[in-house]
Amino acid sequence: MDLSEASPGRRRRGLLIVLSSPSGAGKSTLARMLLEADSEITMSVSATTRPMRPGERQDVDYHFVDDAEFDRLIQENELVEWAMVFGYRYGTPKAPVKAALKAGRDIMFDIDWQGARQLEPDFGEHLVTIFLLPPSMTELERRLRARATDSEQVIGERMQRAADEISHWAEYEYVLVNQDMNACLDRVQAIVSAERAKRSSQTGLNAFVRDLIGPAH
Ligand code: 5GP
Repeated sequence: MDLSEASPGRRRRGLLIVLSSPSGAGKSTLARMLLEADSEITMSVSATTRPMRPGERQDVDYHFVDDAEFDRLIQENELVEWAMVFGYRYGTPKAPVKAALKAGRDIMFDIDWQGARQLEPDFGEHLVTIFLLPPSMTELERRLRARATDSEQVIGERMQRAADEISHWAEYEYVLVNQDMNACLDRVQAIVSAERAKRSSQTGLNAFVRDLIGPAH
């Protein structure tokens, strides 16, 4: 199903859709479902110094880089934001963001609250921030364990970090509780649809309305 809402001749501004949650709350699954349902959204691929996990792919899940390369990205101003998470650095490359905005396409970010905060001053008018909460901490821990890619110590750290991440929920415009993934997807699609319909997002409207009712009005 393609829920594309652009119509020929009516340009719109691309949205920057930030999806944050503690790890294990279902963010990656939700992001994947949204991308499949909507061809106008692309996913931002972050750079990180964290080691690759089994099943992850270079330049698909992340651009896995070493410290020297991350230093270079910062120095050469190639990141729109970056932050330290679990002792590793994560950052959003600037070029795909600029390209998406220029083309009037939306770009989605799986980044934490530190990243969302940094995007605000530069992209505030394009920014849509969504926070995904787990239904309970017990369920969150169960999901983290089901992944089984992390050691016991790492799971403990992630639960701690989850509580920290959740404490920033009120900095987001939209907050969803992930009881049911399909229900969440419906709500995120409704949010995106409403954001695209905002007057400020529809850059071609002036010309469209001028044609509609004539220049005299
Ligand atoms: P993970 O290591 O589990 O893939 O990600 C850990 C955390 O880092 C997640 O909360 C994720 O949202 C966050 N993250 C991933 N990429 C970025 C990024 O480019 N910038 C920021 N600020 N956070 C990121």
